[in-house]
Amino acid sequence: MSFPTLHKRLILITGIGLLILLLSGIGDDSDDIAKLATHTTNLETPNSETNDLTAESQALIAGNQEKTPATNTTTQTDKVRAGDSLAKIFARNGHSAKDLHQISSTKLGKQLKNIFPGNNVTFLSNEDQLVKFIYHASRLESLEFTRAGKGFAGEKNVVYPDRVISYKHATIDDSLFLSSQRAGLPDKLTMRLAQIFQWDIDFVLDIRPGDQFFVLYEELYLDGENIGTGAILAADFINQQNTYSAVAFTNANGNTDFYTPKGVSMRKAFLRAPVEFSRISSSFNLRRRHPLHKTIRPHRGIDYAAPRGTPILAAGDGRIKTASRTNSNGRYIVIQHGEQFVTKYLHLSKFGKNIKSGRKVRQGQIIGYVGSTGWATGPHLHYEFLVNGTHKNPRTVKLPKAEPVAERELATFRAATRQYALLLNSYKDQITLVTAQ
Ligand SMILES: [Zn+2]
Repeated sequence: MSFPTLHKRLILITGIGLLILLLSGIGDDSDDIAKLATHTTNLETPNSETNDLTAESQALIAGNQEKTPATNTTTQTDKVRAGDSLAKIFARNGHSAKDLHQISSTKLGKQLKNIFPGNNVTFLSNEDQLVKFIYHASRLESLEFTRAGKGFAGEKNVVYPDRVISYKHATIDDSLFLSSQRAGLPDKLTMRLAQIFQWDIDFVLDIRPGDQFFVLYEELYLDGENIGTGAILAADFINQQNTYSAVAFTNANGNTDFYTPKGVSMRKAFLRAPVEFSRISSSFNLRRRHPLHKTIRPHRGIDYAAPRGTPILAAGDGRIKTASRTNSNGRYIVIQHGEQFVTKYLHLSKFGKNIKSGRKVRQGQIIGYVGSTGWATGPHLHYEFLVNGTHKNPRTVKLPKAEPVAERELATFRAATRQYALLLNSYKDQITLVTAQ
């Protein structure tokens, strides 16, 4: 990329104040950039309560074994090693199996089954009695067990990182991923970007050298240290001269989706194929000879051959009507999507987590895994798509757009996304200005 200073720069937002600064026209000299950097604050107010907890936890980690004279409290810190168990860690630090048993028996204690090497643990003792045990599951999450009555009480602490708005731009000259990497975008975010635009752009066939994207996203900071990237807030993708714009919006139900700046959903209501398939083993055919029964039986769906255990995704948002088993279907799921649409998934090896009749599912959620239960010759997903009770070919049926932003939420949508769109546009203007010089 020819303008590294621009996309390496982080801009933090002071609401509208900075917006005006941005929009008032910024040249490409570094003084302006420095000026921008000084007008900084966080987009969201961090949770002060949890921040205090971090400070406390960090203070604990800092000293390996400290005595605080006033309270006679001893702090020990240790790290989970490869091949460690909690029993080993407790023994190594001189704590009893009884304490560990009481901790593991708490409801939260179940989560201690998965401990990962490299993570920290903290023991707080008073007069040789363990009063608190903390497992630091990540920089953002810790499980804390405090002596209470005859046992221990568990509490999960979550720290919310500071979110700082950042930008990236890339011009594609070979592959999307390589160009994104050169622009400094982690693969995780590139994947997300491709997902957002997948409904309009075929990333295998449609990408051309010279295609560009601009993305506005969050960098996450904890105590001033960058700990990774957060969500994409807005993005423009220019594919073969056509510009596609997307903004993120979280609706009143708490669901986050991407929309055009006018509030039209970026996605279709249904995935074309609800599984990563290796090949279509049997097409939609109303006059097919059945492979097991050797009679003419309509094949009212598509068979996607895929290895056993391949995740099966809900094709669209909806409610599970049936998650059951019959001799012919094997384990199967029926999802009702609004009034008109029904999708069916047959021959599953097992159901996804919490998949039961009556449960709501979101598009792309794992509902089960490919198998060969019921009348099946090998592992595959038999997938059916019904419109008003009539079977349609899932490969060719015209897929409706997902719901737009609800009428009653349009004002909120505009207020929430205007800022992102303005920021992205001003960034695009700067890039274009630099490129033109
Ligand atoms: Zn089939």
